[in-house]
Amino acid sequence: MRVSARNQPTFCGPRRRAYRASAGLCAVLLLASSPALSDPPSAVTVPAETLDDTYPLDTVERQVPGRGSFRCPTVPLVRYPGSALRYHSAVRVNPYFRERLGRFEQVVADVAREIYGRAPRRIRHIGTYNCRRIGGWPTLISEHGLGNGIDIAGFQFARAARAESLPAGLPAVLRRPFHVSVLRHWRSTDPAGAVHARFLHTLARRLIARRDIFRVLLGPGYPGHDNHFHFDVAPWRLIDMDLGPDQGAASIAPAAVVPGLDAAAEGNKLGLQRR
Ligand SMILES: [Zn+2]
Repeated sequence: MRVSARNQPTFCGPRRRAYRASAGLCAVLLLASSPALSDPPSAVTVPAETLDDTYPLDTVERQVPGRGSFRCPTVPLVRYPGSALRYHSAVRVNPYFRERLGRFEQVVADVAREIYGRAPRRIRHIGTYNCRRIGGWPTLISEHGLGNGIDIAGFQFARAARAESLPAGLPAVLRRPFHVSVLRHWRSTDPAGAVHARFLHTLARRLIARRDIFRVLLGPGYPGHDNHFHFDVAPWRLIDMDLGPDQGAASIAPAAVVPGLDAAAEGNKLGLQRR
């Protein structure tokens, strides 16, 4: 599969909130081109600004037969313990993705210092390299199969140093060690939990705004992702997580750059049709 945002016919991803995200380019194109939203999306050309950078793995073939055995592309993989921050266990990723993770760690550290007054001691992940298809999309290899994706379950924080002054209003209990969990805290409302929810939401928004890090950002609210964020650098841009009523542009799902893929049919297998 040769992918390019500039010259390939493309299909919008099978998104739910894409249809109601006013800022969603793909949604706009779909609405303009489809007489009924339940119809398969028409092919659209994604303007160059949808993917505003190039990435060495963009040209790797990702399409496989829909059934039977398959092989993942041979790509370099490295063991990476983290740089600005460390993972609870070293990850196995492509070197280009390792560079993106370095930028990700810096954003995590910045947001954590703003909210908790300190960076996390460990990032907890629940998967990096894994040669498999995308669930519900049997003709596509998961970005995990290229070492080009990561699933983040949470963040471990150590006790605050005695001399350290915490941000104003932070519950005193957050001086102690704690664990922020995507599963437990994304929608938390108790005093400490609400801080964790604010941390997770702020982090998600910050990462969505940083187009030089990840292109696909999925999280709670997207099927199968209530307990983790999935981040990758696929050759398309897809953002879907429940960031609440003020999500604004956060839920844009502009495009899946997959020539020939029947996005509507594939998406319906996941139950992703418009709600
Ligand atoms: Zn994942």
